[in-house]
Parts: sequence; structure tokens; C-alpha cells
Amino acid sequence: MKFIDVLNKTDFSKISSISEHASDLEVKSILSKEKITFEDYIILLSETAVNYLEEMARKAQMITQKFFGKTILLYAPIYLSNECDNSCIYCGFNQKVSGKRISLSVSEVIKEADFLYDRGFRHILLVSGEKKGIVSIAYLKEIVSTLHKKFESISIEIFPLEENEYKELFSVGVDGITIYQEVYDKEIYKKVHPAGPKSDYEFRLATPERAGRVGFYRINIGALLGLGEFQKEAACVGLHASYLRKKFWKSQISISFPRIQGSGANFKPINPISDKQLVQMLCALRLFLPQAGLVLSTRESGTFRDNLISLGTTQMSAESKTSPGGYLNCNQEGEQFNVSDKRSVEEVSQAIKLKGYEPVFKDWDKALTQS
Ligand code: SF4
Repeated sequence: MKFIDVLNKTDFSKISSISEHASDLEVKSILSKEKITFEDYIILLSETAVNYLEEMARKAQMITQKFFGKTILLYAPIYLSNECDNSCIYCGFNQKVSGKRISLSVSEVIKEADFLYDRGFRHILLVSGEKKGIVSIAYLKEIVSTLHKKFESISIEIFPLEENEYKELFSVGVDGITIYQEVYDKEIYKKVHPAGPKSDYEFRLATPERAGRVGFYRINIGALLGLGEFQKEAACVGLHASYLRKKFWKSQISISFPRIQGSGANFKPINPISDKQLVQMLCALRLFLPQAGLVLSTRESGTFRDNLISLGTTQMSAESKTSPGGYLNCNQEGEQFNVSDKRSVEEVSQAIKLKGYEPVFKDWDKALTQS
């Protein structure tokens, strides 16, 4: 069964009712369980469960240490191009937003990557807007074939591809993909993606499945927090990750928590998500999916990220620039969104150590899986 079928069969009115009627007794009983069900997860996302956030956090910490130890994997994005054929109304790369458009040549990307290599990064994420004529498969293959020799892990966060295209990239060394559905609520999806290839909800939704069939090691999903209603979106993310985990058990399924930040699009969140809700979602996901990677980007402030280190986070970006050429060309013109945590990789590493955790640059888990 495809995930779209799972989603179509999901009774969201029942989910709302479970959440609305969640009792203290139910939350307490779930917190004493070894394994929790999807229904339990919904209860942990309820308003009643907010009163048990400390207990949830303690349990999330214990589970994370059991499966991941006290380590945080650090990575950095490289933006290839901010040209885009889409009109996502929340994004600074939206084709309707005026501003400088930059697409890096292969050699410019290699230079950005060399800079990050010298800063200690071994895990990079190639990011771009949807401009297939510029960010072509041939262009990506050329970049990855070179970078693969130096970097331990190369993931892509670009537009959805066909399965045969993923196969081509996988064959030259891409080992992971990040693809956010942005919003699972179909009505809101339509509203915020009015034009361009991204308006195809189902093609995007099936992307992690196409990637999973190819065999990518890391599949990272998420909802752009601030678009859909909190509980419904968090429920869908949990359902999606759980589906992928069962179907592609050899891949590491990860979840990111991208919360809408200021950008050239001047977009205001439709359903703003509070810090407390983000923490609740992260802890509830950890309890529901003990072995999922949980990723926090520099969209969030340094203080907030530091506080989440011990609660379930497994990966963090650091020193990120969100414009093409942003590392070597300090001019931040053309960035996708405003970075909140502007600390250097040394400062982020130090903050991780102060929490009693170890910053890591090489994914030992992956090395062991593939040996
Ligand atoms: S979110 Fe992605 S697809 Fe949409 S406008 Fe921005 S870069 Fe383009």
C-alpha cells in the first residue's frame, strides 16, 4: 500500500476527538509503557499532555541515549541555486520574489565544499530551488562524483525526482535525501503552492517512497511548521515516518522540524507553532519512533537548540549559509530564510560538549551499516 492510501484512509476526525478527550490518566499510563502506539502518540500531542512535558522530556532523553548514545552529528548545507520555477508563498526563492538569483557552477560548488571540509564537516547537504534546466542530473552527478572522494556523506535537498534519476545520483555517491511535504493538509497545500511543478501534492508525497526503493541510506522528511494545524501535521509526520520505517527498514528515517522564519517572501505563519509545541512534538516523536533521527537546523536560535540537545536531537546543522556561494562570498543576498543560530561550528561544538554530548562529523552508524 502506498502512503497516499494510508493517508486517505486516516480518520482525522477520530484523531481530533482522541486528542480533545485525552485524560491525565491516559497520558500517565502511556508514559509508563515500553512501546507506544500511533493512538498513544496522538494523545502525547494533546493539550492535556502539555502538563507532562517534563516527564516526556525525561523519557525522550533516556530513549535517545539508549539508541544513539550521547552524540550529535553535525552537517552543513551547500546552496547550489536559488532559481526556482515554483511559487511557494512562504519561500524567499519563490519565482515571484524579486531579488538576486544565483546558480553556482560546478567549480564554485567544489570551492564551497572545500571550505566546509576545512571547517571539519564530512557530512553535507546539497540544496537548491527547482530549476531542472540548471540543476540537472548531469550537473549534480559531476558535483557528487568529485565531492564523494572527500566527504563521508552527501545528501540532497532538491526537488522531487523520478526513481531512475535517483538511481543515477545514488550510483555516484548520494546517500540521502531530504524532502519535506511542507504541509500534509491538502487544502492548505494547494493554497501555498499555487503554481509550478510543486503544486502536484501526490508526486511530492510519494518522493520518499521512490527514494526508498532506490536504497538511499538516509531519508529525511518533515512538515514546514507554521502552515498546517499543529496536531494534524504532527500526526501526519509521525504516520509518514512510521510507514517509511516499516517499508524501508534498511534506511535511517529522520524527521526535521523546520519552523517558518523570516524570508524575502514576508510570509506570516498560518498556524504559528510555539516553542513548547515544537518540544512536545519532538519528545512525542522520540517516544513513538525510538530509532528515528531527529534533525534541528539553524532556523532555530542557539539557546533553543542547546536546550533540545539532550531531549532527542540526533543531528544539527552548524554555521549554515542559505544562499548560493554564501560561505566564500559573505554577501548574504539571495538567502532562502534568515538563519537564527549564527554561531561558528566551533561554538556549536562547544555548546554540545557543555551539555555532556559529543559533536561528531562522521556517521559511524552508516559506516557500520554499509561495511
Ligand atoms: S520552497 Fe523550494 S520549491 Fe518552493 S519556492 Fe522555495 S526553493 Fe522553490
